Amino acid sequence: MDIINLSAWEIREKVVNREVTAREIVEAFLARIEEVDNEIKAFITIDKDGALSQADEIDKKIQNNKTVGSLAGIPIGIKDNIVTKDLRTTCGSKMLENYISPFDATVVEKIKAQDGIIIGKTNMDEFAMGTSTDTSYFGVTKNPANPKLIPGGSSGGSAAAVAAMEVPLSLGSDTGGSNTQPASFCGVVSIKPSFGLVSRNGLVSVANTLDTIGVFGKDVKDAAFLLNSISGFDKKDPTSINKEHETFIISNDSDNSNPDELIKGMRVGIPREIYQMELDSKVREKFEKAVEFFKSNGAIVEEISLPNLKYATETYIIISNGEAASNMARFDGLRYGYRAKEYDNLDELYIKSRTEGFGNEVKTRIILGTYFVSSANSKEYYNKALRVRTLIKNDFDKAFEDYDIILTPTAPILPFEANKKLPFEEKVRINAFTTLVNLAGLCALSVPTNPGEEIPVGLQIIGDRLKEINIIKAGIAFERMVK
Ligand code: GLN
Repeated sequence: MDIINLSAWEIREKVVNREVTAREIVEAFLARIEEVDNEIKAFITIDKDGALSQADEIDKKIQNNKTVGSLAGIPIGIKDNIVTKDLRTTCGSKMLENYISPFDATVVEKIKAQDGIIIGKTNMDEFAMGTSTDTSYFGVTKNPANPKLIPGGSSGGSAAAVAAMEVPLSLGSDTGGSNTQPASFCGVVSIKPSFGLVSRNGLVSVANTLDTIGVFGKDVKDAAFLLNSISGFDKKDPTSINKEHETFIISNDSDNSNPDELIKGMRVGIPREIYQMELDSKVREKFEKAVEFFKSNGAIVEEISLPNLKYATETYIIISNGEAASNMARFDGLRYGYRAKEYDNLDELYIKSRTEGFGNEVKTRIILGTYFVSSANSKEYYNKALRVRTLIKNDFDKAFEDYDIILTPTAPILPFEANKKLPFEEKVRINAFTTLVNLAGLCALSVPTNPGEEIPVGLQIIGDRLKEINIIKAGIAFERMVK
């Protein structure tokens, strides 16, 4: 049995049916990590012993005919900004190189409670600030599709780990596209849930009004499966939504349904503003083909307008950095993490600890963000950005009165070479279509348009708040269309 090629669904079924033990599953993935991770560098920390002992516990339960959880025997990678009490949580930073949290994040508790196996913590841009997983203190992650290319970011480790078959599932975090964009670049699936659907308790905050925890899998069904296991109200997160959510698992029977059964009559909006932006020609070609797929499989596809789309990037930069600057204040050499060895007074302790503990990207954003929210400038920048954010949200509210999903490319450009230093404007442009989703609190899914081709290109399917079921159905249909 080729274990590392199995889907998460299949793994659980085979473990429960005693066709394979959870230990055999974990051993196979650990062997794969051993084989490829020296090059890919998807992981910062690997918990070999912990994963094997979790596997043994599950095997024991099964031998004793006890019921096991919905994630039984499935190895899962966790982005290293989601806290775990048994493993360090570094956020890809020297600042937290040896930080051990006193508690597990709610999503980690949920995974453990359902017998998922945490195999390690994945690499990321420092404090989730970046688009290429090249600002990590622990080195650059490579794109398994082509190791010369960046994997996208900031959850590049989680995307690469799934793409390289080091784990079937992983968790990432998404503040402005950090789930969907690396999924697109690595050729895997990711779902960024609606704001408030998945608890942020235990996610180290970058920008509290934008942050979400999302999932990666090889296909939509696997990703939906993990999303279902981690969703739901949590009183420990004040922004968590206290409302029943639909179960996102698509049953095994749906495997045989035709794409048109899933999307027939679905109303699909295509924002005309996309074509006013600079798109890589391959991205444009794949996007146009995707739109045709939806049309020819019974969806009702129409052009729509999101007039404020063009302001998303600037709005995102002001809000995310403004919030990030205040979140970073807690890393002061006293409360958490790194402390400078030599200092003469309290000011020096702060300054030296932060100067030595943070990398350049984080420092740049603290400076920028502090400027945007300072009392002299906040009216002109932060407050104005909040107003534009409302306009963007209103555009979507209007669109979702008439449409079930909205399609965009996930990113306007292709993954680029690791040694290429992109100019700032080009860098922020990568997120033009993904930051929108976070600003409006929506859900989105990125699904590969060209499986098997050399450079992956993702399609972003955006859904209204708490309408994950629409993007999942559309994603499954699209996967079948392109296979
Ligand atoms: N790439 C975006 C940024 O650098 C988004 C990051 C994220 O979603 N965490 O801000």
